[in-house]
Amino acid sequence: MLVYNKHLQRKRLPIGKYLNNILLTGLDMLFPPPALCRVCGRKLMIRTRVELCQWCLEQLPLVGENSCRQCGRPLAVKHESIEEPTLCFDCRSIRHFFVKNRAVGIYSGTLKEQIHEVKYRYNRQLGIGLGQVMAVVAKGRGWIPDEAHLLAVPLHPERLRQRGYNQAELLVQGMESCFQLPVLKHGVVVRRQVTQASSSLNPLERRANLRGAFYVPRPGLVVGKVLCVVDDIYTTGATLDELARTLLQAGAKAVYGLTLSIAVDDYDLMGEL
Ligand SMILES: [Zn+2]
Ligand SMILES: [Zn+2]
Repeated sequence: MLVYNKHLQRKRLPIGKYLNNILLTGLDMLFPPPALCRVCGRKLMIRTRVELCQWCLEQLPLVGENSCRQCGRPLAVKHESIEEPTLCFDCRSIRHFFVKNRAVGIYSGTLKEQIHEVKYRYNRQLGIGLGQVMAVVAKGRGWIPDEAHLLAVPLHPERLRQRGYNQAELLVQGMESCFQLPVLKHGVVVRRQVTQASSSLNPLERRANLRGAFYVPRPGLVVGKVLCVVDDIYTTGATLDELARTLLQAGAKAVYGLTLSIAVDDYDLMGEL
């Protein structure tokens, strides 16, 4: 069960409590309170870049070493006998527009629950915390090219209005809170179609469904740049591909992907049968 960070909820207060709060704020500035874990709310013993406690960090199903060199999908068995030894089933049949994608965790268990919490239960603080995890893992493993600008996958304005925020932007915000990274802000690329829910579609239908979904209003902002597109999940790669195609057409030099999670494919996990 995930607990909201009660610390951050604001209500109207009577004047006495209001003054008391000013006093406490002053004390907070002198003696900052311990940071709280963004997942479970426990006090953090030490201040680190990632505001998640050790216990919550250990629950995250991270992607291991053996993964597809193109999309980052975990592979359980080394496909040594195959021509392209470290490509997943998907990437052996599709040519992607992005250079490569890397995923921090597997879309299952705790991480899946946490992503739902961020997307559908308005837990923005958790989104920022998970962005911090992404930054530390991606930096540590050298996944962000030196010259890359981060760019959040945009939401359609209508969906943004309903949700009030873009979860991919929360992840970027968390990443920025850990490291100084160049970021292309909201509006550089725009989503112009409300695409139908893609979970019921097969991979080819997903691609067709997304065709023309994005556009770059001012191509000058992306011309010649290496971009690293940030999203919460990689499933078939259709979204990242369509975004990469659009950005390359607008003049970007290269497009990489970095996702918080990736859906695993039974075929890849079980190897050749
Ligand atoms: Zn925790
Ligand atoms: Zn792959």
